[in-house]
Amino acid sequence: MVDFHCHLDLYPKPVAVVNQCKEKQLYVLSVTTTPSAWIGTSRIAKDCPRIRTALGLHPQLAHQRSHELEMFDALISEAKYVGEIGLDGSKDFKPFMEAQLKVFRHILKTVNQAGGRVMSIHSRSSASAVISELATCDCIPVYHWFTGNKSELQQAIASGGWFSVGPSMLSTKKGQELVAMLPRDKVLTETDGPFAQFKGNSLMPWDVDLAFIQLAKIWNLDKNDAIEVIQGNFRRLVSFA
Ligand code: MN
Repeated sequence: MVDFHCHLDLYPKPVAVVNQCKEKQLYVLSVTTTPSAWIGTSRIAKDCPRIRTALGLHPQLAHQRSHELEMFDALISEAKYVGEIGLDGSKDFKPFMEAQLKVFRHILKTVNQAGGRVMSIHSRSSASAVISELATCDCIPVYHWFTGNKSELQQAIASGGWFSVGPSMLSTKKGQELVAMLPRDKVLTETDGPFAQFKGNSLMPWDVDLAFIQLAKIWNLDKNDAIEVIQGNFRRLVSFA
């Protein structure tokens, strides 16, 4: 199973979570929210080849952490994956859009110069802007928990985007409608734990299992066939990394 967007370092006991992922042979993209978190977060998964740590600077922190861009640039050669990055146009973060854009553009330029990366992308209330910024970057974007409208989704699909979807997105009607529109060969599963919750509890990486049940329903497949689709997609995606 694959959890392509999880914040392992933000669980109360990250090492215990890593150990369970290892036991369950789970593939995890462990995203970070600041460059300074990347080193320690990589370290807790250093004995787990199935866990990859992505270098990120979360758009909700962009206005406070732009001084860490230098560190981002210094670490990019060691990081095969980038995320969580992007823009957030929701009410609380829209006032910082200028700082967010500065950070996002800097990161895309760095990634371009480094030869491109597979990247986990945040695009809440900013899908159109994110799509147009990404057009400048030679990279593979994986839109995580896409919440834009249908025309924005069509643009993201047309631009070659991939999508990671999880139990939270898949339990809303809007989320289900968006997921039904996705090309099956561009879909991955995620939890966005511990931020994302399901029925009041923080999702654990292995709760990605819930997403397979929901995807199978939408695709009219057996759960095992849905798992196979995602595993095939995952193998194809990591071959680009
Ligand atoms: Mn996240």
